[in-house]
Amino acid sequence: MMLGAGVLLQAATPDEPSTRWYRGNTHTHTLWSDGDAPPEHAVRWYADHGYQFLVLSDHNVMQEGERWFEIGEGGRLTPARVRELVERSPEGWVETRELEGTRSMRLKDLGELKAAFERPESFLLIPGEEVTDRYRMAEIHLNALNLAGVIEPQRGESVAATIQNNLDAIAAHGRRHQRPVLGHLNHPNFRTSLGVEHLAGLRGERFFEVYNGHRSADNEGASAPDSTEAMWDKALVLRLHEGAGDGGLLYALATDDAHDHYEVDAVSVPGRGWIMVRAERLEADSIIEAMRRGDFYASTGVALRSLESDGRTIRLEVDERPGVAYTVEFIGARATDGDRRPLAEVLQSGTGPRASYRFTGDELYVRARITSDRAHPRPYAAGDLEQAWTQPVRPAKGAGDEPDPEG
Ligand SMILES: [Zn+2]
Ligand SMILES: [Zn+2]
Repeated sequence: MMLGAGVLLQAATPDEPSTRWYRGNTHTHTLWSDGDAPPEHAVRWYADHGYQFLVLSDHNVMQEGERWFEIGEGGRLTPARVRELVERSPEGWVETRELEGTRSMRLKDLGELKAAFERPESFLLIPGEEVTDRYRMAEIHLNALNLAGVIEPQRGESVAATIQNNLDAIAAHGRRHQRPVLGHLNHPNFRTSLGVEHLAGLRGERFFEVYNGHRSADNEGASAPDSTEAMWDKALVLRLHEGAGDGGLLYALATDDAHDHYEVDAVSVPGRGWIMVRAERLEADSIIEAMRRGDFYASTGVALRSLESDGRTIRLEVDERPGVAYTVEFIGARATDGDRRPLAEVLQSGTGPRASYRFTGDELYVRARITSDRAHPRPYAAGDLEQAWTQPVRPAKGAGDEPDPEG
């Protein structure tokens, strides 16, 4: 399959291996860092709620080694939570100890979690970490997926250098351990830390969070110059029109960034945002490689029955819920002559579960946003509707030259 320009999303043909859609969340915290739940509590929620893969992305740590967490009223691990865990777990699973008057519980490591929860083609834990760095007041967080071990924050002499150093470290880790890895830049508007230039201008930057379920993420850009979605379009224009960064596409994820695992309505709960990845197998390498091909979409509730593009037409069909209406917008930017910088706009819009967009050939890229009229059951903000965002696609060479076969 051709990468990058042109053919991005292909239907499986008899000659190709068949693919499936897998639902996953790549951003969740546990007691290994600042989440409020033992890892098995967090993992069980996802395994029980229709997810096929999960990345526990604790800050600057992976779930490895022996770690005891203090049990206490008023702390994150209360006696009631330990009792609940004991009741829901097999005999002997929960280990507690008392040392010098302090009771603690041992945190399960990733190997134990994998042994307890993974099932072939049904549920997978992908090792990862939120590489948590900063430059002055800017929070610079990148999730690194499919790691063989922890990556330390790399620091840097500017915001851009700090991001670049961490991206480079993630790529070097993949080369050193000979495995496909992926880094996604998180919540760019958190504390107004990052700008469009940081999504556009860096080497090897391919992924960012257009939707982060943590209520401090400011996806909408209330206290930042742009919403994360507007940043995405501006960064794509800078890349594709002006060759910023290494000129490639930028792909978007939706994630939970869950810390609050015992509530439905809190700052960051599981179940707000996820990705759907079209891969050959439910294995870490296969999932990561599919994402690197751009063969995934971001969702806060809308699921797609099909999504195809050959660089001439994008076709999609929503997996309809009864009684729910859908609006499909194709968003993109057209190449311009001279110095005028193209602006992203809605190129085509319609209602109904099926939509197709035919390239005219002068687009820099086109992506789709699907918005339902169904309220999100676990909203980031009151009034949120369930949505999905597909990845940008560039027109194939010669797109728009032939007459539309469908008239
Ligand atoms: Zn973060
Ligand atoms: Zn996080």
